[in-house]
Amino acid sequence: MRAEIKVSGIVQGVGFRPFIYRTAVKNGLRGYVRNRGDAIVEIVVEGDRNNIAQFLEDLEAEKPLLAQIYNISADYKTEEEGFSEFSIIKSSGEAKLSGSVIPPDVSICDECVRELRDPTNRRFNYFFITCTDCGPRYTITKELPYDRPNTTMNEFPMCDSCAREYEDPKNRRFHAQTVACPKCGPKAYLTSNKGEAIECDNPIREAGKLLEEGYVVSIKGNGGFHVAASTTKADPLTRLRRVKHRKNKPFAIMSPNLETVQTFAEVNRWEAELLTSYRKPIVLLKKSGDYHLSELVSPELHTVGVMLPYTGLHIMLFDEVEEPAFVMTSANPPSEPIVIDNAEAIKKLGSTVDYFLFHNRDIAQRCDDSVVRFHGKDPCLIRRSRGYAPEPIRMKRTADRCVLAVGGELNVTACILTGDRAFISQHIGDVENLETLRFMKNAIQHLTKLTNCRVDAVACDLHPKFTTTKLAHELGNRLGCPVVQVQHHNAHAAALRAEWNVDEVVGVICDGFGYGSDGTAWGGEVLYCNNEGFRRLGHLEAQPMVGGDLATYHPLRMAAGILHKKMDVTEWLMSLSQKFPHGKNEAELILKQLRKGAVPETTSCGRVLDAVSALLGVCYERTYEGEPAMKLESVALKGKDKLNLTPRLEGNVLDTTLLVHEIFAHKDRFSVADLACSAQSYLARGLAELALEEAERLQVKHVGFSGGVAYNGHITAVMRRTVEKAGFKFLVHHKIPAGDGGTSFGQAIAAGFQKG
Ligand SMILES: [Zn+2]
Ligand SMILES: [Zn+2]
Ligand SMILES: [Zn+2]
Repeated sequence: MRAEIKVSGIVQGVGFRPFIYRTAVKNGLRGYVRNRGDAIVEIVVEGDRNNIAQFLEDLEAEKPLLAQIYNISADYKTEEEGFSEFSIIKSSGEAKLSGSVIPPDVSICDECVRELRDPTNRRFNYFFITCTDCGPRYTITKELPYDRPNTTMNEFPMCDSCAREYEDPKNRRFHAQTVACPKCGPKAYLTSNKGEAIECDNPIREAGKLLEEGYVVSIKGNGGFHVAASTTKADPLTRLRRVKHRKNKPFAIMSPNLETVQTFAEVNRWEAELLTSYRKPIVLLKKSGDYHLSELVSPELHTVGVMLPYTGLHIMLFDEVEEPAFVMTSANPPSEPIVIDNAEAIKKLGSTVDYFLFHNRDIAQRCDDSVVRFHGKDPCLIRRSRGYAPEPIRMKRTADRCVLAVGGELNVTACILTGDRAFISQHIGDVENLETLRFMKNAIQHLTKLTNCRVDAVACDLHPKFTTTKLAHELGNRLGCPVVQVQHHNAHAAALRAEWNVDEVVGVICDGFGYGSDGTAWGGEVLYCNNEGFRRLGHLEAQPMVGGDLATYHPLRMAAGILHKKMDVTEWLMSLSQKFPHGKNEAELILKQLRKGAVPETTSCGRVLDAVSALLGVCYERTYEGEPAMKLESVALKGKDKLNLTPRLEGNVLDTTLLVHEIFAHKDRFSVADLACSAQSYLARGLAELALEEAERLQVKHVGFSGGVAYNGHITAVMRRTVEKAGFKFLVHHKIPAGDGGTSFGQAIAAGFQKG
């Protein structure tokens, strides 16, 4: 009996062929396995029928950790070719590999950790220990196929011992492109902030001790540099905030293990599972009652972003220290991408840090850490990067054209949609300067190579002036294909539709800003979205942004604008004038502008939350994206919806003036926490009711919630309750960022599937 089997999925670069080899030998089969050029693994087995059946069963049941099987097909033949054994053969077609060839970077596996700790193992204490189940993938790949000469491991010829493991199909490092040992692999070394070498026994443990002593150390990882510091001492944290120009933005931290994390944060079952998974993202955890890290780590927030060590180097950093965690923040100069080059690090970070912990392997693809938050058991991806990119999102339907989408302006990612798969790039950032734009262009080039597809259309935002819009037109010209401009909130809704594979949805899309179809600023929208396109069904009341963009940085301006609609705000605003950078003069100017009218308006939900945050004295200045609303959520956690306002709809517009006035009127009657909670509840209930009314009228079964505001736990929970109570299905994102990291995906979907 002979079977010709084809397997598609993430089956290359994950130890799949050695697994096939072992499984075939175990079942007494003969034949071969090889990678085909079209990203399919081809297997031919000969032997007993029952053994072949068992082999196929094992294939699915025992596949390697990182492998994902999309499809298996088997053709049976009676005549045999008469193989004498089972072998792994190389095919010339491997040069043309395409599709999901490269898995994301993978955290160090348990077996490698065991070897790292085993004094008899030749990789004892070797920080770059990896195997076929673990280690960097995406970040070391320069070219395809994923083969050692095409990775940045090419500079490290294998020693004899490593080569033997690499070539032995029975060894767990068979064809592991990252195989290395202390003799032949990359080395770590410590330097001063000027790059002068510092002699020491073990540079990694030394770096850990320096951190504990209060020094700031920049550490080279797999996808870029981190800046690390103590989490319990105020001095290095204050310094870090000053030199990084990060007044309040929370720092991500790394803790040696789950038990330690539980001493300062609450970790539920699902959070623990992801924290310890092979993806190892930063997970936003609720600070516990015993939170004992410095308040400077994530000031005035109820959460702290924690990750566990994901390389041997990270593990060893904690070997000789007592610190419960270290700050591990991406090392990037303001609004530039994460630093990846050693010389560049000294130039750009030298004045920020005291020491560098380098290694001598190059980084081919920069990749920041991913960030995830949970709402109960539901994961919400805030940043989908290391551990996820470039793993494709699979869909239930197939696009008939290949689309390259370039995202919006903030938290940008790129996306390539081809067939039933969408490849979202790693996190790129805010595309507003040359450095980020260059990074963006590189990521697009790499993604195009990776997917090996011919782009039929380029998708971008509707905003005429975004850097990415210009880039899209440039690309369209160069590739000779049309550019499709997709309205921002339609992109969010389309992403929701594709993730859940539904034909139509009434989507509540709430964020900070999106360029509307009518040229005005949108951000609190209720849309109907299907394959034809979208319709705006309703939205939040438009509110003045006194001073335009300034109102996003100083939310008191938003509050003043809204209150001014129904009352004289002079006295109130003047009493708070010291909250503005230019004091009384600025307050007076605001009043003058309000009296004059003709102020730009926005329907943004983020701006209303900002206004409430300032009104309640929670946050007067936005120093990072989302700050006033995030702090409002943290404060609201201790409150109840005591105001219990009935949402007022004026046609299909939810009244937010009423909300802000009621908050103002009850300032002395209820606590800040109760009012913060009431404001969030009002918006959630109001928008849900508006969406439900429309869903009922249009007979749409699904009501969804997307946009950056969907990260807010309370708003999402209230909306879910309202929608489900009415008998509708409530959709939120689990795989794609609800914020603007997901817009490239939504644009690709809209351009790939929507006809309108
Ligand atoms: Zn391993
Ligand atoms: Zn070696
Ligand atoms: Zn958005």
